[in-house]
Amino acid sequence: MKRLEGHVALVTGGSRGIGAAVAIRLAEEGADVALTYERNAERAGQVVKQVEALGRRALAIRADSADPAAVRAAVDETAATLGRLDILVNNAAVFPMGPLEELELGLLDRTLAVNVRAPLLAAQAAVRHMTEGGRIIGIGSNVAERVVFPGLALYAASKTAQVGMVKGLARELGPRGITVNLVHPGPTDTDANPAEGPFAETVNGFTALGRYAEPAEIAATVAYLAGPDGRYVTGAAISVDGGFAA
Ligand code: NDP
Repeated sequence: MKRLEGHVALVTGGSRGIGAAVAIRLAEEGADVALTYERNAERAGQVVKQVEALGRRALAIRADSADPAAVRAAVDETAATLGRLDILVNNAAVFPMGPLEELELGLLDRTLAVNVRAPLLAAQAAVRHMTEGGRIIGIGSNVAERVVFPGLALYAASKTAQVGMVKGLARELGPRGITVNLVHPGPTDTDANPAEGPFAETVNGFTALGRYAEPAEIAATVAYLAGPDGRYVTGAAISVDGGFAA
């Protein structure tokens, strides 16, 4: 029997990049998987097909994380359609970058809504469905540990907020047997940060391993936290960053 057989996971922002890799890895471990996306129905459909090809049930839900009602509805739809909810992976995020003087209020509000408010609201909705053994896993960032470029204050602030959120939720949900953790990816080859992009060579130099991660390398740690081997880990932030923060 596979480690996550009989479990149901919801991955926000699962249509591309790290979220898609997490959805597929959790399905490989035996979970049925729902994923949200903002715009990219075609890519979401491709991930659904990949999960189904593994013999698991899959569900794609269009839900803008900036919309509180959509976030809550996605959680409830997952539990209603797939029958339960065991694992929530808060992955969807926006990546603002630019000088402080040019930062607009709309971008600031949207970043905090998607990167901070949505994970907390999703957790609030998810714990209504979760039982003992539930897992909440956030995707943070290496810049919550070390900010090597200017122009990242807002993004770094939004990701660092999750460190406190995870610790607080771990304390609150521990007595119910639900663990809450954060994974800080390092530079990872996705549409948001291509390994061949303009910053790649400089970024590689900040890592100890001298290269980007593949999304599957981040997904492996998420799967560990989601599975039985991760059951005594809670309130933790685990860097999977090739030594970026070393
Ligand atoms: P991508 O840009 O490749 O993918 C983003 C995913 O999130 C897509 O599925 C996208 O949906 C979805 N998404 C974006 N905004 C919203 C929204 N408002 N509502 C719902 N879904 C949304 O990002 P990555 O895979 O690179 O990043 C994933 C996570 O990893 C993020 O939390 C990011 O901060 C973190 N991270 C990434 C690093 C990297 O180097 N790549 C490094 C450190 C952290 P759609 O397809 O519809 O647009």
